[in-house]
Amino acid sequence: MPLPRMPILFIGHGNPMNAIEQNEFHRNWRDLAQQLPQPKSILCISAHWETRGVYVTTTTTPATIHDFYGFPKALFAVQYPAPGDPRLAQHTAELLAAHHVQPDPVRGMDHGAWSVLVAMYPQADVPVVQLSMDTSKPGAYHYDLAKKLAPLRDAGVLILCSGNIVHNLRLFNFHEPRPIDWAIHFDEEVKRRLVARDHPALIAYETLGPNAKLAIPTPEHYLPLLYAIALQTDDEPLSFFNTTVVSAISMTSVLIGSSS
Ligand code: ZN
Repeated sequence: MPLPRMPILFIGHGNPMNAIEQNEFHRNWRDLAQQLPQPKSILCISAHWETRGVYVTTTTTPATIHDFYGFPKALFAVQYPAPGDPRLAQHTAELLAAHHVQPDPVRGMDHGAWSVLVAMYPQADVPVVQLSMDTSKPGAYHYDLAKKLAPLRDAGVLILCSGNIVHNLRLFNFHEPRPIDWAIHFDEEVKRRLVARDHPALIAYETLGPNAKLAIPTPEHYLPLLYAIALQTDDEPLSFFNTTVVSAISMTSVLIGSSS
């Protein structure tokens, strides 16, 4: 029996505390995973692995990286011991041969991956590989690269793109979660373009309306969205969840394809 084509996820991960707080975001990640076909492996493209050139993790036992500061001890205590998958890493590098992907045999798993996966797959029994982003490259580079990952969907691989559509920590207010107007407007703009399948506008994000520079002061949290939409086929549905804007961070997440 052929494997089901795996859906694609763009997850707004937001605050790393979502890993351990039983809030709406965490619950929706958990519930979503229970509706998805069971993945054989996960390939994660995370905002928190930026490189020059493109790398893929090849370790069999990726360490949990606590790549943040100033959070409670309980968050630093989280371990997510999912195994790696060197064969998936190899397959990914082959699909991206034109991009000269390099193996990284040392790197573990960053919180863009594990803060979400600890809710989705708490047993840590699905192998995880991460692919880095060369954030010095323009949107079209990422979109074109991601298209080549399409065969993984038919090999039981869940492609998890983890970032935030709006992410401005400088203007983020930790004491006031009420959404800021420009953040709502940009989030709405992106959702409109996603529904309209206006990928050229989303790729050229620097000119996506008057609030682009506020919403995307640096590209690393936005770019994973381009990996997700690059993999959307012509007839494929798209739906939103966790559509909450917290101060200057949008948690809006996208499911591409059907969940069952
Ligand atoms: Zn982040």
